[in-house]
Amino acid sequence: MNIKQTGILFFPAFDWSLGETHPEREERLIYTQEQLAEEGVMDLPQIKQYAPAVVPLSDVMLTQGIFPNPQEHDLDAHLIAAGSSLVLGKAWAQGEIINGFALVRPPGHHSGATVLGNRGFCTLNNEAILVNHLRANYGIKKVAIIDTDVHHGDGTQDIFYHDPNVLCISMHQDGRTLFPGTGFVDEKGGPNAWDRTLNIPLQPGTGNEGFHYILENWILPRVKEFAPDLIINSAGQDNHFTDPLASMNVTAEGYGKITELLQADLAVLEGGYSIQGALPYINLAILLALAGEDYSNVVEPAHINRFQITFSDFKMYIKNLQIKHRQAKTDWIVQEGSRLPQGKWAVIPHPVYYDTEGFQERRYDYVRFCNHCGGTVYIESQSPLNGSKNSLIRIPFEACSTCSQAGHDLWGSMLGQRRNILFQDQPRNKVQLWQYHEGVTSY
Ligand SMILES: [Zn+2]
Ligand SMILES: [Zn+2]
Repeated sequence: MNIKQTGILFFPAFDWSLGETHPEREERLIYTQEQLAEEGVMDLPQIKQYAPAVVPLSDVMLTQGIFPNPQEHDLDAHLIAAGSSLVLGKAWAQGEIINGFALVRPPGHHSGATVLGNRGFCTLNNEAILVNHLRANYGIKKVAIIDTDVHHGDGTQDIFYHDPNVLCISMHQDGRTLFPGTGFVDEKGGPNAWDRTLNIPLQPGTGNEGFHYILENWILPRVKEFAPDLIINSAGQDNHFTDPLASMNVTAEGYGKITELLQADLAVLEGGYSIQGALPYINLAILLALAGEDYSNVVEPAHINRFQITFSDFKMYIKNLQIKHRQAKTDWIVQEGSRLPQGKWAVIPHPVYYDTEGFQERRYDYVRFCNHCGGTVYIESQSPLNGSKNSLIRIPFEACSTCSQAGHDLWGSMLGQRRNILFQDQPRNKVQLWQYHEGVTSY
């Protein structure tokens, strides 16, 4: 007997919420668990269930700068959501499962390269931590992340914006009509990773036909051409026609088809706030699709009662969007002869708004121009809450020797300053944090 296994892991975080009436509340996954049990899905021979685990801080800090330090944040539930995604990731990398679905919360895709607090319900980026763990420990080189949440996956984009080995795709409701207000076609990646980010903003009212059309005609050809070693689906379910936060028209069966088309190795739950009327059915359809079972009979109780755009209007819209995408141009501010070592750097002003707590991080991102790798990344961040100054230095996976040296030089020259400095040496899987009063902590 050799059944291809589909992994599943629940971490419903019953004791974590952003408030009793908040969409991201304790019981969000209860109905899903009941539905899956009721349908007998958990008894299918190919389903293999895994238990949650806590992610080590070293894995978090290799991917994200938590400032001023991780101890200053309440990370408990977030560390388990990320750790649980990692459990399935390892099971996949070790060949125990052919694919898997991490049904975890809190979500993660709005959490970026620097973390000063919670954004869009997210504090740690579950998928990004998972991806970089597999790259650091299992020799995975190229990864495609496809975000099917209705909100732009801006945190994931931020983390991989300068990384030519990660193809980061997000399709979402147009940022002019929905949080976080970004994700336009001209956001295509940094100077050494141009066109490794693909954003497809969609009009409110887009439904199954539209989503499947984009997948088949735009996203899947790009993924195929990129030939990744690993495909991750940031599986947000707030494109459903009953979701209270957005205005799309995807059905549970439509999500099943999205899953079947994507053929992701790992799906990690993101948003989805129609917790009784949609989430149980969508999760069921996704799981059935991953397990190679028929999902066409999964039908939610409600019917579409929202504005829908016609398919011909939709196709016209996409045609125009593709022209805009092709025409988008690079526009870098170049810093030469600056305090940054080894050559030419681009500087990108990058303020980040934290909606949960209502403040804006002041941020400037620098990346070293390089024809051989993703380039050293340097980020300067300031918190308006306490004025604390933070820096992140990243030597990227697959770095060339000059960029690696630039990272080390920068770290060496900055030690001793009155700021928090995180040094991510991704190729060596090594993380160090300098704090003025604490000295250096290794993770
Ligand atoms: Zn969302
Ligand atoms: Zn380089």
